[in-house]
Parts: sequence; C-alpha cells; structure tokens
Amino acid sequence: MEKTSNTRLLDALQDRALLGDGAMGTQLMIAGLEQGNCGEAWNLTQPERVLAIQRRYAEAGSDCILTNTFGGSRIMLNRHGQVENVVAINQAAVRITREAFGAQPGFVIGDIGPFGGLLEPYGDFTEEQVRAAFNEQACALVDAGADAIIVETQTSLEELLLGIQAAKEAGAPCIIGSMAYDVTLDGSTFRTMMGIDPERAAEFMQEHGADIVALNCGTGMDMERARTAVERYRKTTGLPVMVQPNAGLPKLVNMKVVYDETPEQMVTGVAPLLDAGASILGACCGSTPAHIRAFRQSIDAYQYENQAL
Ligand SMILES: [Zn+2]
Repeated sequence: MEKTSNTRLLDALQDRALLGDGAMGTQLMIAGLEQGNCGEAWNLTQPERVLAIQRRYAEAGSDCILTNTFGGSRIMLNRHGQVENVVAINQAAVRITREAFGAQPGFVIGDIGPFGGLLEPYGDFTEEQVRAAFNEQACALVDAGADAIIVETQTSLEELLLGIQAAKEAGAPCIIGSMAYDVTLDGSTFRTMMGIDPERAAEFMQEHGADIVALNCGTGMDMERARTAVERYRKTTGLPVMVQPNAGLPKLVNMKVVYDETPEQMVTGVAPLLDAGASILGACCGSTPAHIRAFRQSIDAYQYENQAL
C-alpha cells in the first residue's frame, strides 16, 4: 500500500492543529458487532465494514485516524482465540486505515490499548509478558506503515512505559502517550485510576521519549475538563498535546453507560481547546462522524480567523 502522506506528523503539527477521529467501538456495534465479540478480528473477516466506518471519518475531515487495534495485543486477542492472527490483524488494520484516506492526505495512528489486566504484584501478568505483547503489536503496526503509535487509555505509568518502549523499539516515527483520567468524587480535580495526575504523566512521558502527550476517555472528562488538562500539560512540558474527550458525561440508560452530548454541544469546546494549545483534537466514547464533521468546521473557522489577524 502506498503512503499518501509525505509530511511527518510532527512536522505537520508545526503549521496547524490536526483533527483526529471519533469512537470506533460504538460504530462497530452499529455495523453489527455483538457485545463481547472481537472487533479487531473484523480487520481480517469484515474489512469492508471497518473501512466504511473509517471512510466516514476521513470524509468528515479527520487528518488522523486510529487503527482498529485497541484490543490488538496478544493478551487481549487470546481471550477471543485470535492469538495466531496477532500480526495479520494489526497489519491489516494499518492497510484499511490508509485505504480509508484514499487520495486525501492523512496520518495512520497505530492504536495500542491497555492489555486488559494488572501487572504483578497486583495482578497475574509479568512485565515480560506485557512487554512481549506490546513489542509484537508495535512492530506489526510500524512494519505495515503506521505514521505514529498511540499507547492509549493508560492509567499506570508502568504499563504506559512498556508501551512507549515497545513503540520506540519498533522504530515508530512518532510516539503518543495517552492517559485516561477520572474526575475525583468531590469534582475538584482528576487523576487516573492508579492515582497519576497530568503533571506527573507529562513529566514521565517526556523523560521516556514520547513525542506527544495526550488524554482520552476517562470518567467525567468532558471538553472543559480536557481543556484544563491541556493547560496542565502545557505548564509541564513543551511537547504537543492531543485530546480525545468523550461526548460529555456518562449516563446510565437501560443499564448501559451512554455518552450523548450532541455535535452542537460538544463543538462549543473546540475553540477553547485550541486556545489552550491543543495540537490534535479527536473524540472518544459516544462521538460519531457528525461530531468530527462539526469539529472540522470549528477548527477551520478558528484557523481562518487567526490567520486573518
Ligand atoms: Zn472513551
């Protein structure tokens, strides 16, 4: 597959803010994936459905699209009996995302999600198991031509580090570390489930060679909270910042957690995020191509106004 982007992601960020994509998991469900089934296996078995979702994001104006590999590590795929397909699933994902951009320039971000367990001594997984799983996934994504690797929805520095090191060893052209923060019960601040605050995460990522510091998902992290996080990152590091907030706050509907902020509601937070210095804006749970299209219009208007000044 030919690469359509000649510019490096980090170079592109020098000129302008970039638009990411929206949720993948919910879109897979809409396309027919059943709860608990393996969405990543669709890269091999239903590639046209994955492609159709990512095309809608490309058409909505995404500059960067994450591969459908959130649960694409050996440890995650093992739960679905897909371990023999680890490399093929990750490589196919990169090809599909590249194809989604078609002739339009765009960056393929290889997605590494949490391995889904706890490291020793809290859990059953050894550091070596997780390191091997992330190394394998990162290599497959980079070998297939990913423009960057994002290690996302991270809550512990130990697991984040294994992901960053795997991306580095694989020769990723750009490494993004993305934390999931939860707003504290009293609402005064936010930190990860493992107690990491944005300052600590940013320092740690910079120290260990990430190129972009990011946040995604989390609980209670709407656009305004994301803006606060960007400010806190920017006070701590000079690295570019990426954000992928959820579509508002979680609500329980029919025993299911939903995020239902509309594009119109969510897009009011775009200019404040750009003012705060965010370099890549995407969205997480509950967001759709319609949200991303609204983001595109807002980012373009913001950049036009700031050029005119
Ligand atoms: Zn999310």
